[in-house]
Amino acid sequence: MQEVLAAIKSALPVEPGSDSIALHEPLFGGNELAYTKECLDTGWVSSVGKFVDRFEQQLVEYTGVKRAVATVNGTAALHVCLLLAGVRSGDEVLIPTLTFVATANAVTYCGAVPHLVDSDHKTLGIDPEKLEVYLRERAVVRSDGCYNRETGRPIRAVVAMHTFGHPVDLDALAEVCGRFRLALIEDAAEALGSFYKGRHTGNHGLLSALSFNGNKVVTTGGGGAILTNDEELGRLAKHLTTTARVAHPWELHHDQVGYNYRMPNLNAALGCAQLEQLPGFIAQKRALANRYEMIFAAVRGVTFFAEPKEAKSNYWLNALLLDREHCDQRDNLLAHLNGGGIQARPTWALMHKLPMFGDCPRMDLSVAEELAARIVNIPSSAFLGA
Ligand SMILES: *Cc1c(COP(=O)(O)O)cnc(C)c1O
Repeated sequence: MQEVLAAIKSALPVEPGSDSIALHEPLFGGNELAYTKECLDTGWVSSVGKFVDRFEQQLVEYTGVKRAVATVNGTAALHVCLLLAGVRSGDEVLIPTLTFVATANAVTYCGAVPHLVDSDHKTLGIDPEKLEVYLRERAVVRSDGCYNRETGRPIRAVVAMHTFGHPVDLDALAEVCGRFRLALIEDAAEALGSFYKGRHTGNHGLLSALSFNGNKVVTTGGGGAILTNDEELGRLAKHLTTTARVAHPWELHHDQVGYNYRMPNLNAALGCAQLEQLPGFIAQKRALANRYEMIFAAVRGVTFFAEPKEAKSNYWLNALLLDREHCDQRDNLLAHLNGGGIQARPTWALMHKLPMFGDCPRMDLSVAEELAARIVNIPSSAFLGA
């Protein structure tokens, strides 16, 4: 315990003062003030304005996707990704049980049922091999798609979540999706700046969601984006998030039930300034992770979780894994670190442990349960890498 606190402190460039060192803090070191002031000066603060277009263009350039549509938050982006992938009321959607609640909530907003899947030790995301074995037994592929043999419901899609920014094994997962005729959606909320085999996360699935919440790699205050390489889906994403309004100089006509999900210009202004600094943030976050990795190589009882093979991770949230035989010490360690001025947290409550998702269909979830008992997240802000 003492050793872990000392190791973390030795990796950080600052001592905890009267405030403890936070898990993740935003950094505003660029044009944030100038761009947001421009919104106020010109009156363009809401969901139309040049910063929204510019922000989307910057995302396209950075991630390499064809279309990016900025939204009010990542959960809304995920909701629209699912709708556009054809998820309807009564469908099932495969999601990891080890995820932030937004993934499961978004499925529920569609009237669909989360079907919970186990994780992989190597990536902390969905285990494609275990999923394949499970689907062979549990699912049947008919001419019109994949069905759950037990519930009779269609299984429409898989949401791959890149845990703490570490990319899932996307190629293996895409193969499983192809075999079982499932749409692949990426919950890349934590993964801006993370690459899988040289290609940006969010650029592998049919549709992907990003988040720009205050604790993510870059922030717009609150915000998200839908990414896709399909022009038509990109057009529909913009339409659906803009109250399905039909373009016309003065008439207000809407051709379906849409959503008021577009990102305001004021938030996009902040986002443009943040994206200009993204490569620097990633370099700092990787430098911090590198220091943690070296220091923890010599500490007994814990392992620093390092990026999977074939991935370049943004190290959004750094994670320690307690050795299996020490996981009963987790809460002691958390108390010790937080008491010592270092903010530390266990990972999310697993989805099948939450009251509203406790009855969802699920496979054996023993790896996720083991990981949840062993994970401790530690300070990860970009400025700590300096
Ligand atoms: C942050 C996050 C989201 C979406 O978050 P918003 O707060 O709605 O922007 C979705 N999924 C995961 C895994 C996240 O970490």
